[in-house]
Amino acid sequence: MARIIAIANQKGGVGKTTTAINLAASLAIMEKRVLLVDCDPQANTTSGLGFGQDALPCNLYTAFFQPERVNEAILPTVSPFLFLLPSGTDLVAVELELVDKMAREFYLSELLEPLEKRFDYIILDCPPSLGLITLNALCAAREILVPLQCEFFALEGIVKLLQTYNQVKKRLNPRLELLGMVLTMYDGRNRLTRQVEKEVNRCFPEHLCKTVIPRTVRLSEAPSFGKSILHYDIKSKGSEAYLNLAKEIVRRKPVRAIKAD
Ligand code: ATP
Ligand code: MG
Repeated sequence: MARIIAIANQKGGVGKTTTAINLAASLAIMEKRVLLVDCDPQANTTSGLGFGQDALPCNLYTAFFQPERVNEAILPTVSPFLFLLPSGTDLVAVELELVDKMAREFYLSELLEPLEKRFDYIILDCPPSLGLITLNALCAAREILVPLQCEFFALEGIVKLLQTYNQVKKRLNPRLELLGMVLTMYDGRNRLTRQVEKEVNRCFPEHLCKTVIPRTVRLSEAPSFGKSILHYDIKSKGSEAYLNLAKEIVRRKPVRAIKAD
């Protein structure tokens, strides 16, 4: 059965997509069968792996309302163990179209259920909001991984995210566990980065992943070539970091939930 991990933080630009793509690619290199699901209408994961969203006949939006077409939507990638369920701008309509539906939080969960045997990992890249698409991802997932950017406002919003996590766990998806938090765009020479690391460590000692993701130009360049960092520059610091994160995630068990309210 697949481990289903949502990469979530409602704060924008913290490294969710970069982590989703490169963690998925690293797990695939370790010969884990991985499905990367682009749950964001911005479709950065889709374009970051080299797929133009307009050319796709079928995507997550199609599969949301016609689950029998999900296999049609899944794309193979250059990495034999990595598959993509792409997104497109039409996904934004899901928020509106689901509003008056029964069990509207469980569409994604039902959609992914038949795929659980086919994959070892299903990685969900969430949009920067706590709307219905993110709620669907949190209901489909068993684990949540939170990327935190090492900047002054890193902890802002975390309380809200943890409250949402607690509410989802209590009311909608009791199996959901917090896998951990990972520091992204880390620059050890920067005093602020080190302060943020110290603060996160103080507040959430058990939840912080040991691996930190450094800020590197190579990581920001790779998506414009439609490649994961491993295919773009295997010898880079970014590749090393995401391979280490993948090894840590394979070993890491979700830890005790945090009470945020
Ligand atoms: P959104 O909330 O809009 O979905 P996100 O949380 O998915 O954003 P990313 O798109 O992964 O964040 O990253 C935001 C920007 O920062 C991108 O331009 C990305 O290339 C860059 N970036 C991410 N991680 C790193 C890193 N470790 N080093 C350098 N640049 C990075
Ligand atoms: Mg993103």
